[in-house]
Amino acid sequence: MAEKDKACDKDLPEAALVPSEQLKFINRFTVTRADACISCGMCASLCPYGVHKRIEGHARILPPDDRRCIGPSCEVNYFFCVANCPTNSLSVGTSETFISMGDPRWTSEMILATWAQSETGRPLPLDHPGNIGASGGGFDRLHFRLPEPKAKFDPDEICTAIDLNRRGSGPMIRIPIPIYGGGMSFGSVSLYTMLARAKAAKKWKTFTCTGEGGYPEALVPYKDNVITQVATGLFGVREETIQRTKIVEFKYAQGAKPGLGGHLLHDKNTPEVARMREAVPYTSLFSPFPFHSVYSVEDHKKHLDWASAINPTALMSVKVSTPNDVEMVSVGSYYAGAHIVHLDGGYGGTGAAPEIAKKNIAMPIEYAIPKVHKFLLNEGIRDQVTLLASGGLRTAMDVAKTIALGADGAVTGTADLVALGCVRCGNCESGRGCPRGIATTDPILDKLIDADWGAERISNLYNSWRLQWCDLLSRFGMTDIAELRGRTDLLRHADKPAKGGGK
Ligand code: SF4
Ligand code: SF4
Repeated sequence: MAEKDKACDKDLPEAALVPSEQLKFINRFTVTRADACISCGMCASLCPYGVHKRIEGHARILPPDDRRCIGPSCEVNYFFCVANCPTNSLSVGTSETFISMGDPRWTSEMILATWAQSETGRPLPLDHPGNIGASGGGFDRLHFRLPEPKAKFDPDEICTAIDLNRRGSGPMIRIPIPIYGGGMSFGSVSLYTMLARAKAAKKWKTFTCTGEGGYPEALVPYKDNVITQVATGLFGVREETIQRTKIVEFKYAQGAKPGLGGHLLHDKNTPEVARMREAVPYTSLFSPFPFHSVYSVEDHKKHLDWASAINPTALMSVKVSTPNDVEMVSVGSYYAGAHIVHLDGGYGGTGAAPEIAKKNIAMPIEYAIPKVHKFLLNEGIRDQVTLLASGGLRTAMDVAKTIALGADGAVTGTADLVALGCVRCGNCESGRGCPRGIATTDPILDKLIDADWGAERISNLYNSWRLQWCDLLSRFGMTDIAELRGRTDLLRHADKPAKGGGK
């Protein structure tokens, strides 16, 4: 049966408003009221966005609620408070924090858009600036030739599901959205962050991954949606953690730092983390590179056979970076028994990955995906393997571009953290870790994240993304995301002039 003819799960979660106030979120604009204000209430009576509020009987007007302000572009409106204030007490400008937040890959515009999606579950317009970064390369130079929007489309009529086992035997696992959450270990992130991701994965019938730091007991109730990762350090890898999972992921390399292994600096290796990793607390932990038991496809097959012997029903996923011969690696993994080949490109990585490694070692993921896709097609095995890609995929449009380049779906990570309030400050690894309570193991900081709140935020983000994929597919006259796979003709590179229709 063709993948697009298979039943598509329509029983999907709905979005609910999950306010951002739990954390101190950043406004795009600031509204400042000077001391000359006489609290006349003129601004409150004019502003239709509710920025200014004057409570009857109170002597002073309330401080402005900047979050609601639409900014200096408001000056064209008759109700522009700055122009109407009788004492010239008001000024409106762009927030300094907004300007300094983020980086060229995760711009402040993209972070704010992701927060809004996580708060409301509503989709971004496909041409919204929050869909694209300012890195000047990679997915930021790649655009869809977007046809005009369809007047109306029904998301229920559009299938965004993908199969994770396409080998024709063993358990069939179909996830209703073409993404699952990539590995982030206990130690690199907090237990509550892991729990939030697992709860969201369960809600969406997709997966999240333990990462290489072991399998905390708190995740066991979500075991049907948690991938067990086996990495070179073998931290916390036990028979029972392989037996309880539906997917075992062998991490051979990370796109952000191929050839370097992983490390967890001593401050974050708390007694709980150390117990999970069977290590000494407050020592720095390093995972070697590579697996010293694997130097050939035969060795690789022994690895997969070993995990299959422990859990015969688990799917095998192989995560590799993108060396020059990435297509040969992928074919080798398929013949060794992998159900999922997961290509990890170099745009991702937390503050733990050295910049020189992120930018100079692996092949850019937008080159690696079509290379592998075409090679698997020529080998006649493309439809027996699920090809996933990761490494700095930030938005629904990045995921869609990944698929148009030839992948079946994507593995995402940082976007989940941004949904929880990450500001991309890059302090994930230093000292006690994340000041927002996300990438930390500090017993005080980690309480900043409530797992249920976080799960709803991530769930909303997935809902918003699904609606964006539906919008995109409907514009191309498609009803199944499988139809998008390998459609590089729908993309254009910003360095090449646009030909034919679309923007
Ligand atoms: S600039 Fe416009 S939106 Fe902002 S507070 Fe003034 S009236 Fe309201
Ligand atoms: S320290 Fe926290 S807020 Fe800063 S980049 Fe890391 S996860 Fe994001």
